Amino acid sequence: MAEARLVDGKAYAADLRARIGRQAAALKAAHGLVPGLAAVLVGEDAASQVYVRNKERQTVETGMNSVGRRLPAETGQAELLAVVAGLNADPAVHGILVQLPLPAQIDADAVVDAIDPAKDVDGFHPVNVGLLSAGRNAMVPCTPAGCMMLLEDTLGSLEGAHAVVVGRSNIVGKPVAQLLLAANCTVTVAHSRTRDLPAICREADILIAAVGRPGMIEGGWIRPGATVIDVGINRIEAGGGRTRLVGDVDFDAALLVAGAITPVPGGVGPMTIACLLRNTLIACCRQNGVDVPPDVG
Ligand code: NDP
Repeated sequence: MAEARLVDGKAYAADLRARIGRQAAALKAAHGLVPGLAAVLVGEDAASQVYVRNKERQTVETGMNSVGRRLPAETGQAELLAVVAGLNADPAVHGILVQLPLPAQIDADAVVDAIDPAKDVDGFHPVNVGLLSAGRNAMVPCTPAGCMMLLEDTLGSLEGAHAVVVGRSNIVGKPVAQLLLAANCTVTVAHSRTRDLPAICREADILIAAVGRPGMIEGGWIRPGATVIDVGINRIEAGGGRTRLVGDVDFDAALLVAGAITPVPGGVGPMTIACLLRNTLIACCRQNGVDVPPDVG
């Protein structure tokens, strides 16, 4: 049997960043506007530091302004809310992200609620969650937006496809289900209490795994020819004291059954930051009454 086609998220993300860069340059030339993204990092979490550094580097590489705010781990709620209020009021900042997780003394929901929804480039504010579920113009969360781009690039129209989403988190599972519904898929959302998950997965034309369990989706759970989007990023022991990244899907087994599949790494992962930059450009356009360019919108 032929192996599944690999969905190259790394290449797609590089092309998207190039398009965003061109549109950022055009925005500057035509309107004197430079999109600005503020990343707020509280504490010393090693993984968060890497994520934020990558976001800042790619922001600058795309020709946008990066505004870093590093705060100590013991920062209090009121202090963080004051930083967010300052960024909300700053006209040079069009997008704000507060890197999660936050230290225990801070109520993350209260911080997300404090971000101006127009600047909420992560798409986590309840106003954006509501707009997305109502099918209106929302700031769309980045990883789900990236999944949809890869799906549409791979399949064209998704209309009528049965999509099964495994995972119901607020940052991946639920918003990607909304986007699939908006794309006229029939959507099933599965989770840890779902009965007979393998049988439900086998019904999927499109299978999205967003669980956080290495290799949980077995080859026998996949319908032959299905398109598999593996959102999972799990670090496992690779022997000799080394580690490696794997997804939520048993990749080698899936390769023999699926029609197309995203690898880990190099699939969904690179799309997330590219979509964050895209949201920042969109936010800048909307805040200044400029049409969002069609090749990034
Ligand atoms: P969460 O832990 O917030 O959610 C996991 C979901 O999986 C929950 O809904 C949970 O169900 C469900 N689940 C857990 N165990 C099972 C099981 N045995 N069977 C069926 N469902 C199960 O994770 P996230 O959504 O934040 O992330 C999921 C994965 O995606 C992680 O590996 C994460 O690292 C990765 N990720 C990757 C990103 C990227 O840029 N590519 C961005 C964000 C996340 P229940 O609700 O019932 O508990």
